[in-house]
Amino acid sequence: MACMAQVELRHASNISGDFFVDTTCIDCDLCRQIAPDSFSDIGDQSVVYHQPETSKQEFSALKALITCPTASIGSLRNRNAKAAVAAYPEAIDDNVYFCGFASESSYGASSYLIVRPEGNVLIDSPRFATPLVKRIEKMGGVRLMFLTHRDDVADHEKWAAHFGAERILHRDDISRSTSGVERAVTGRDAVELDQDLLAIPTPGHTRGHTVLLYRDRYLFSGDHLWWSAAYNSLNASQSVCWYSWSEQTRSMEQLLDYQFEWVLPGHGRRVHLSSSLMREQLESCVTRMRRQSRVAS
Ligand code: SF4
Repeated sequence: MACMAQVELRHASNISGDFFVDTTCIDCDLCRQIAPDSFSDIGDQSVVYHQPETSKQEFSALKALITCPTASIGSLRNRNAKAAVAAYPEAIDDNVYFCGFASESSYGASSYLIVRPEGNVLIDSPRFATPLVKRIEKMGGVRLMFLTHRDDVADHEKWAAHFGAERILHRDDISRSTSGVERAVTGRDAVELDQDLLAIPTPGHTRGHTVLLYRDRYLFSGDHLWWSAAYNSLNASQSVCWYSWSEQTRSMEQLLDYQFEWVLPGHGRRVHLSSSLMREQLESCVTRMRRQSRVAS
């Protein structure tokens, strides 16, 4: 495996050793999620704080290297990354997978695959990387491509063209680059895409942001809602709200009408809780959002 990152740009805060992060890192957090034993945060970038020692740690570091959207992770030694490449899509739970291979154009957003007899669903867009495409072909391809919002669409055209997938995006988030989507969700009402798939408009982060609820268990939450490891809670943030915080607060309240156990976001951490704990967390999140709205007004 060739070194992907640039040695001459190696971040000064990396611990010495083979693996390193260079200064092109955009702080998407994925390496810290995938290989927390090796990567840590130093403010607005990641570095290697502990060189992998076990084969498991090395495998995780290589998966982070493969997934990094900016090719900012490197190894001074040639390493065989075949198994790490083949690890994606990686099972999260049951028939739900994390795709890895993040794209810089979606700022390293996570994308997911649901494998279903009725046709697979790709949620947001990973990089259109040949090994991932081939793996997804073997897993049955892609029938629906659900785009949560305008920012995380990345290589959607290539995925849709390759698999003949129907893309779904809210009309309010369609732009020139997504004008060819096959299906537009409109308004604020939830739309049943299939028996087990519900598109729920959640305006706020963007005007047309929409989340996907699968089997009343998995909420693919885009940039509407995520788990914060720092606060140990479900979270949304005004600092990344591009459309309307009051609308996002209202959308969050409306999510209380639904039941789910998983939050699988584009950015931020994923989380699995019992549905009752998830509801408590969501209620607390809404309370904080309302308080922040009052402070701001
Ligand atoms: S995955 Fe890459 S871009 Fe993202 S935080 Fe790690 S090094 Fe930075």
